[in-house]
Amino acid sequence: MIDFFSSDYFTARDRFRSGVLANGGQIESILLNAKGPMGQDLTIDIGWFGTSNPDRAFIHASGVHGVEGFAGSAIQLQWLEEGITLPSDECAVGVVHVMNPYGMAWLRLVNENNVDVNRNFLAADEEYSGVSENYEGLRELLNPVSPPAGGLFGLLAAWRAFRLGKRNFRRATTGSQYNYPKALAYGGRHHEQATRCFQLYISGRLAFSERVVVVDVHTGAGKLGEDSLLVDGADCRLENAAAMQLAWGDRVRAMPEPTRGSLDGLFFRMFPAARVCFAMQEFGTCSEMAALAAARTENWQHHFGDPAELDSKGKEDLLRTFCPESAEWRTTVLERGREVIHQGLKLAFDTHRPAATLTNTARQLPPG
Ligand SMILES: [Zn+2]
Repeated sequence: MIDFFSSDYFTARDRFRSGVLANGGQIESILLNAKGPMGQDLTIDIGWFGTSNPDRAFIHASGVHGVEGFAGSAIQLQWLEEGITLPSDECAVGVVHVMNPYGMAWLRLVNENNVDVNRNFLAADEEYSGVSENYEGLRELLNPVSPPAGGLFGLLAAWRAFRLGKRNFRRATTGSQYNYPKALAYGGRHHEQATRCFQLYISGRLAFSERVVVVDVHTGAGKLGEDSLLVDGADCRLENAAAMQLAWGDRVRAMPEPTRGSLDGLFFRMFPAARVCFAMQEFGTCSEMAALAAARTENWQHHFGDPAELDSKGKEDLLRTFCPESAEWRTTVLERGREVIHQGLKLAFDTHRPAATLTNTARQLPPG
């Protein structure tokens, strides 16, 4: 049996490129100004299948959060192995392999500038400043400058979550911040190279599309082995939420807190005339506190410890938190990954699909 989970980013990329070529696709490699641990080049690789400027497109993205990319990459490698087929000449499929290759290569959630790429896609007129509500009060706890003691963090964080309320705590800790370059959830000072280049690439490809379906794979907080399809309730028009529920079923949820600067915003902004259905497929691996603790320790280590040690405990913990070794979890990821792709392809390409008849609005989606 083929193991689609690769041992490292570079192995995954080689497999991806071979798979795209074997399926008759084109590869666009966006070379970034960053290097891997052995000085290797880092690229965002996009496999494109079908016409260059499609009427309808299905986009599948992985690795926006670096180390989370092992799961999304595995789903993509499985898809390439099973074969990518298109229903007609007007359609196209774009497979974006690891949007943040530095993070996957170095086992980080963020890129070479400590920027969370999924907080960097702000509109041209939006200012890169500000922090989420209640963030300042938690900043020192989340971003220690001395070696963090794991056990104590759990207790302190639980106490703060209790005082603030779970929802406010989550908002503060998972929201975007643009003021502290070495802290967690930093969205940058301007568009990062990856953001700029991807925007340029995708705007050319989808300029004339009328329907665009995007699945962006993530891992992290959530019940082990369960996935949700998170959609932005604010940006998602009524017809799209209903169509997504028809296609993907009751796993479609409203994002608990829409993230400032996230990838979905780019698609909604860039293609206002198209019907854009964007879902983050989030595979649960652990509790919110465990995800936060692992990110916090690794971030401390990167800035104040020795960032070059890939086998350090901080990086090893981060990897296992966002890509568990459990065979059962990995099997579920591959199965659900495949299922959501096939449902997404139908949503993108099936023109005979009846218009959505559900009446619920995005706001009435169950919370994720
Ligand atoms: Zn993520």
